Amino acid sequence: MDICPKCGLPTAACVCGEIAKTQQRIEVKTEKRRFGKISTIVSGFDDGVNIKEIAKTLKAKRACGGTIKNHVIELQGNHKGHLKPVLISLGFSEEQIIE
Ligand SMILES: [Zn+2]
Repeated sequence: MDICPKCGLPTAACVCGEIAKTQQRIEVKTEKRRFGKISTIVSGFDDGVNIKEIAKTLKAKRACGGTIKNHVIELQGNHKGHLKPVLISLGFSEEQIIE
Protein backbone atom coordinates (compact mmCIF):
# COMPACT_ATOMS: atom_id res chain seq x y z
CA MET A 1 0.00 0.00 0.00
CA ASP A 2 1.32 3.44 -0.89
CA ILE A 3 1.50 6.05 1.85
CA CYS A 4 1.34 9.77 1.13
CA PRO A 5 4.57 11.42 2.36
CA LYS A 6 2.67 14.62 3.19
CA CYS A 7 -0.16 13.43 5.44
CA GLY A 8 0.77 9.81 6.17
CA LEU A 9 -2.55 8.42 4.93
CA PRO A 10 -2.82 5.67 2.33
CA THR A 11 -2.81 7.39 -1.06
CA ALA A 12 -6.34 6.09 -1.72
CA ALA A 13 -7.62 8.17 1.23
CA CYS A 14 -5.29 11.12 0.81
CA VAL A 15 -6.71 14.41 -0.43
CA CYS A 16 -3.45 16.40 -0.47
CA GLY A 17 -3.56 16.60 -4.26
CA GLU A 18 -7.11 17.96 -4.16
CA ILE A 19 -6.22 20.52 -1.50
CA ALA A 20 -3.17 21.58 -3.49
CA LYS A 21 -5.35 22.10 -6.54
CA THR A 22 -7.97 24.19 -4.78
CA GLN A 23 -5.51 26.63 -3.21
CA GLN A 24 -3.53 27.53 -6.25
CA ARG A 25 -4.16 30.23 -8.79
CA ILE A 26 -3.14 29.24 -12.27
CA GLU A 27 -2.09 32.11 -14.47
CA VAL A 28 -1.88 31.89 -18.25
CA LYS A 29 0.02 34.57 -20.11
CA THR A 30 2.01 34.97 -23.28
CA GLU A 31 5.59 36.10 -23.67
CA LYS A 32 7.50 37.11 -26.71
CA ARG A 33 10.61 35.04 -27.24
CA ARG A 34 13.60 35.44 -29.47
CA PHE A 35 12.93 35.93 -33.18
CA GLY A 36 9.41 37.15 -32.40
CA LYS A 37 8.11 33.75 -31.34
CA ILE A 38 5.30 33.65 -28.80
CA SER A 39 5.31 31.29 -25.83
CA THR A 40 2.40 30.62 -23.52
CA ILE A 41 3.38 30.54 -19.86
CA VAL A 42 1.25 28.60 -17.37
CA SER A 43 2.33 29.31 -13.81
CA GLY A 44 1.09 29.11 -10.24
CA PHE A 45 1.19 25.35 -9.69
CA ASP A 46 1.82 24.14 -6.17
CA ASP A 47 4.41 21.48 -5.42
CA GLY A 48 1.69 18.91 -4.76
CA VAL A 49 0.45 18.69 -8.33
CA ASN A 50 1.84 16.48 -11.07
CA ILE A 51 3.02 19.24 -13.36
CA LYS A 52 4.49 16.73 -15.81
CA GLU A 53 1.07 15.17 -16.36
CA ILE A 54 -0.53 18.59 -16.75
CA ALA A 55 2.10 19.66 -19.29
CA LYS A 56 1.67 16.40 -21.17
CA THR A 57 -2.10 16.90 -21.41
CA LEU A 58 -1.82 20.55 -22.44
CA LYS A 59 0.69 19.68 -25.15
CA ALA A 60 -1.47 16.82 -26.44
CA LYS A 61 -4.70 18.84 -26.45
CA ARG A 62 -3.10 21.84 -28.12
CA ALA A 63 -0.79 19.78 -30.36
CA CYS A 64 2.25 21.83 -29.47
CA GLY A 65 5.66 21.47 -27.92
CA GLY A 66 6.50 22.63 -24.45
CA THR A 67 8.85 22.51 -21.51
CA ILE A 68 8.74 22.71 -17.72
CA LYS A 69 11.08 25.16 -16.00
CA ASN A 70 10.98 25.99 -12.31
CA HIS A 71 7.46 24.58 -11.93
CA VAL A 72 6.21 26.71 -14.82
CA ILE A 73 4.88 25.22 -18.05
CA GLU A 74 5.95 26.94 -21.23
CA LEU A 75 4.09 26.01 -24.41
CA GLN A 76 5.28 26.92 -27.87
CA GLY A 77 2.88 29.27 -29.61
CA ASN A 78 -0.01 31.38 -28.41
CA HIS A 79 -2.63 29.27 -26.63
CA LYS A 80 -4.14 31.99 -24.47
CA GLY A 81 -7.91 31.61 -24.41
CA HIS A 82 -7.75 27.87 -25.07
CA LEU A 83 -6.24 26.37 -21.94
CA LYS A 84 -9.04 26.93 -19.43
CA PRO A 85 -11.25 24.04 -20.61
CA VAL A 86 -8.24 21.73 -20.61
CA LEU A 87 -7.24 22.77 -17.08
CA ILE A 88 -10.85 22.33 -15.91
CA SER A 89 -10.86 18.82 -17.38
CA LEU A 90 -7.79 18.13 -15.24
CA GLY A 91 -9.68 19.03 -12.08
CA PHE A 92 -8.98 22.73 -11.64
CA SER A 93 -11.95 25.01 -11.06
CA GLU A 94 -12.79 27.91 -13.31
CA GLU A 95 -12.23 30.49 -10.53
CA GLN A 96 -8.66 29.29 -10.05
CA ILE A 97 -7.63 30.00 -13.60
CA ILE A 98 -6.60 33.47 -14.68
CA GLU A 99 -6.40 33.42 -18.44
ZN1 LIG B 1 -1.67 13.13 1.59
